[in-house]
Amino acid sequence: MDEFTLRKQVAEISARTVHERLNRISSGNVSARFGAGFLATPSGVPSAEVHSEQVVFVAMDGSWAGNLKPSSEWRFHRDLYAARPEVGAVVHVHSPFAVSLACLRRGIPPFNYMIAAAGGKTIPCADYATFGTQALSDNILAAMGHLRACLMANHGQVAVGRDLQQALAVAIEVEALCEQYWRACQLGEPVLLTDAEMDEALVAFQGYGVNR
Ligand SMILES: [Zn+2]
Repeated sequence: MDEFTLRKQVAEISARTVHERLNRISSGNVSARFGAGFLATPSGVPSAEVHSEQVVFVAMDGSWAGNLKPSSEWRFHRDLYAARPEVGAVVHVHSPFAVSLACLRRGIPPFNYMIAAAGGKTIPCADYATFGTQALSDNILAAMGHLRACLMANHGQVAVGRDLQQALAVAIEVEALCEQYWRACQLGEPVLLTDAEMDEALVAFQGYGVNR
């Protein structure tokens, strides 16, 4: 994909995070792998108002060109691209139900087979570190492993995909699962699926939905 088209897509997906109620005002950030680096939403521009020319190219050494800085959370985007060649896009949001569970430092257990949409049997919660720090990035990569999403303690969630559309779909699904889990917990202790049941769900998920 050419740079102009990808810049437009980064801006569009950034706006979608607000329209899908995953982010408000300037929280969260979006990026897509491009060339020897990635295209990231800028710092200080409301997520719904990013223009394609404001999208910042960040090299893998963390340097960037132009007047606008990339989001202060560029480090975990960079580290996810460096560690995982299959990742083509990263969507980070402060979605309300994910934040609520992350404030309890609780990951999501296999209460619903749709957990498999995030690539595993649970959606873990990364340990807390200050936003924008290398420590936060290290915690996210450790929690995520090869999964497509994790919660971030007292902060939010991060989702990855082979492209922007898939990363956004994972973030939307994670928020839906957090809401469902939260609601189920109001009524009692949700019954968890077994390892074998989740194995079957993971197999069935290959070639379906966000895994397509
Ligand atoms: Zn954040």
